[in-house]
Amino acid sequence: MQTILTGVRVNEEPTIGNFLGAYAPMINLSREHADDSQINFFVPDLHSFTTPIDHSKLYGQTIKGIKYYIAAGLDTNNPNVHIYRQSRVPAHAELSWILDCFTPFGEASRMTQFKEKGAEHPDAVTVGLFNYPILMAADILLYDAKYIPLGEDQFQHLELARNIAIRMNNKFNEELFTLPAPEKEQIKFMHLENGIRIRSLTDPTKKMSKSATNEKSKILLCDDPEQAAKKIMSATTDSEGVVRFDMINQPGISNLMVIEALLTNRDIQDVIAERAGQTNYGDLKRQVANNVMHFLANFQERVNAISDDDVEAILQKGEEYANKVANAKLRQVQRAVGLYR
Ligand code: ATP
Ligand code: MG
Repeated sequence: MQTILTGVRVNEEPTIGNFLGAYAPMINLSREHADDSQINFFVPDLHSFTTPIDHSKLYGQTIKGIKYYIAAGLDTNNPNVHIYRQSRVPAHAELSWILDCFTPFGEASRMTQFKEKGAEHPDAVTVGLFNYPILMAADILLYDAKYIPLGEDQFQHLELARNIAIRMNNKFNEELFTLPAPEKEQIKFMHLENGIRIRSLTDPTKKMSKSATNEKSKILLCDDPEQAAKKIMSATTDSEGVVRFDMINQPGISNLMVIEALLTNRDIQDVIAERAGQTNYGDLKRQVANNVMHFLANFQERVNAISDDDVEAILQKGEEYANKVANAKLRQVQRAVGLYR
C-alpha cells in the first residue's frame, strides 16, 4: 500500500493558510484513498522549536494540534489512518542524523526558507533551523511516503528529501527508500493546477505564516470568527478598481478569490467568472468574510467536542503503528550503513 503523509508544526496557532494548504488536501486525499493507502497525519513537535517559542505552551498546543486534525474531518475509525507525535517515534531523530551525513552542506545551504527565517530571527539562527529539512526528510522516508500534501513553500524541502533518497539508494545499491513523487506529480495527485500559497492579508506579496508577528496578517483557526471577518474586510488590496485574478499585479484581491474558492470547494475559474467586471472590492470582501466566519464557527465547535481522552486513545494506536513501521525502516538503513549485520 502506498503512504500519504503530512504534518503541521505546532509552534504557533495554525492559520487558515495551513488549513487550506495542508489540512484540507490531506483530508480530501484521506477520503479518496481510504482503502488503498496508509494515511499518516503527524504532529512534528520536534520541529516546533527551530525558531524560539514559549515552551510552557508546547505540550498543550500539540494536543490541540491533534484535535485540529480530527476536527478537520480525518476519519479516525479508518484502520488506515494514523495520527502520531514525531517525538514519540525516536527513529525520526535517529534517521535524521544518518541522513545528515549523506546531505552535502552546499545543497542544504540552498534552502530558501532557511535564508528567509534566518533573516527574520537573526539573533536566533540555530543549527536546528538549518537542519530541519533533513529531519523532514526522515519524517517522510521512514514511512516510504510517496505523496505528501504540502503548501507550495515546502516543495524545495520535498525535493531535498527526494535527492537524499536517490543518493542513498544509489550508494547502497538497493531500494532503501521509496522516492517521494516530484512536485508536478504531487500537485496532480492533489487535483490542483498549482501549489497552494495563501498570502498574508497585510502584505499579499508574502505568504501567510503562523509565526508572523502581525496578527492582522493571518487568520488563526482559533480566531474569534467576527474578528477574523474584520481582518478580511481590512485586507490590503490595490487601487486598480477592478476585481481581476492577477497574482502579480493584484495579489491581495486574487488571494481573497483563492480563499473563497478553496473554502467553498469551488474551482477558482468559477469565482473568477462570478466576479468578472466587478469594480467593488467590498462585495467580494464581504462574501469571503462571511464564509471565513462560518467556517471558523463550525470548525471551533467541532474542536471543542473532542476530549483529551479521545486524543490519548488515538495517539496510543497511532504511535504503536508508527514505531513499528519506522523501526523496521531504520533497521534496514542501519544495516546498509554498516551499523548492523
Ligand atoms: P511558520 O511560520 O511557523 O513556518 P507556516 O504557516 O509556514 O508556519 P508550517 O508549519 O511551516 O506553517 O507548514 C505547515 C504546512 O502548511 C505545510 O504543508 C505548508 O506548506 C503549509 N502552509 C504554510 N503556509 C501556507 C500558506 N500560506 N498557504 C498554503 N499552505 C501553507
Ligand atoms: Mg513554514
